[in-house]
Amino acid sequence: MLLENIKHNDQQVSFEQAVKLGLGRDQGLFFPKQIAPLADIDALLEKPFIERSAVILSHLLNNELTQHELQEIIGNAFQFPAPLAPVVDNIYNLELFHGPTLAFKDFGARFMAQCLSRFSKGEKLTILTATSGDTGAAVAHAFHGIDNIRVVILYPEGKISRLQEKMFCTLGGNIETLSVQGDFDDCQALVKDCFEDQALRDEIGLNSANSINISRLFAQVCYYFEAVAQLPKEQQAESVFSIPSGNFGNLSAGIIAKVLGLPIKRFIAATNLNDTVPRYLQTGEWAPKPTVATLSNAMDVSQPNNWPRIEHMIEQGWFDRELLSGYCIDEDSTSLGVKQLYQLGYLSEPHGAIAYKALKHGMEDGEVGVFLGTAHPAKFKESVENILGELISLPKELADVAGLPILSEQVEPDFAKLREYLVAGN
Ligand SMILES: *Cc1c(COP(=O)(O)O)cnc(C)c1O
Repeated sequence: MLLENIKHNDQQVSFEQAVKLGLGRDQGLFFPKQIAPLADIDALLEKPFIERSAVILSHLLNNELTQHELQEIIGNAFQFPAPLAPVVDNIYNLELFHGPTLAFKDFGARFMAQCLSRFSKGEKLTILTATSGDTGAAVAHAFHGIDNIRVVILYPEGKISRLQEKMFCTLGGNIETLSVQGDFDDCQALVKDCFEDQALRDEIGLNSANSINISRLFAQVCYYFEAVAQLPKEQQAESVFSIPSGNFGNLSAGIIAKVLGLPIKRFIAATNLNDTVPRYLQTGEWAPKPTVATLSNAMDVSQPNNWPRIEHMIEQGWFDRELLSGYCIDEDSTSLGVKQLYQLGYLSEPHGAIAYKALKHGMEDGEVGVFLGTAHPAKFKESVENILGELISLPKELADVAGLPILSEQVEPDFAKLREYLVAGN
């Protein structure tokens, strides 16, 4: 068995089981029992993105899927590049927002969708998820058009931006969107009720496509290799990666890449005012505070659910804690970061700007900085325009959907009615 539940390590599962289950017993996260270093990283870095990613993933999966199968899966999942854009001399932005929903979550969500589709072997599955915006779009696009998988997404009516709604409520086909007359917590509570109903789970083949699914992290490992491959050879070993973090999946993937042997010198965990991890790294005390709303709203998380995976890699002695520093960037610095980058000729948005500011704080002489661009600036058009005092244009992906009709059905936050809806549509 490849993976274990890090809370109860007697629960050991294959990758297929972990992808289908999402979470282990007692809400425990699945993680590899071992991570063996990859052989011949230099040669690997010479390979094209898809081919290289298939090698990395088949190694991580201990050949549970063959390189050939993975090449097919990844070919379908990663249909967009991850370019490393130079910003100034020794600072680069890894642009992870060229996928269909313009955020890095496309990498993980699309790989997960392809894996689930393969593992379901024709059995019908229903993916049920609640979203406050971005995750729903990534999940909807990732599963759109996949046979035998029905996707039902709940979101709070009127509480996500019009443009966000257009991105995932206009697809149709196997994607059903329900606008719930309530808030995000109501949506999450409904989803939870459904998962607690075993008869319903069995009847409609319920699966969560959860954000803590291990397949997502594995997919994200691939773009760290792609970033290093684009760095000049002499700069690779001096590279410092700054990751704008919320649930810490992205940073977990970066650390896995380093454990696999990728030449990255160290990491910076950049957060907004929800700074549980930077405070923890400084004081050793885990003391989450209530979540506060910020400009970088995809990072408004005070109890990051992937953190135990990072802690696990430190405890196992796979990763040296000294190689991770944390910075909290407040709202003023975030805006300043967007402005400074713009003055350097680079249009950014609040999440990327936080990673840039943290990098500027933490980088030392002789180091080379890479900050992760997790979203396209147009996704946060309003804040970016407010900060810069200028209008920015919509990329094709957004402009295309802006004119389409919203196909959502309105529902009350009522479990019995939702249950009926799910069964009727099965
Ligand atoms: C989800 C998200 C993040 C946070 O990533 P984690 O893996 O949860 O740490 C950062 N930026 C954007 C734009 C996101 O959508």
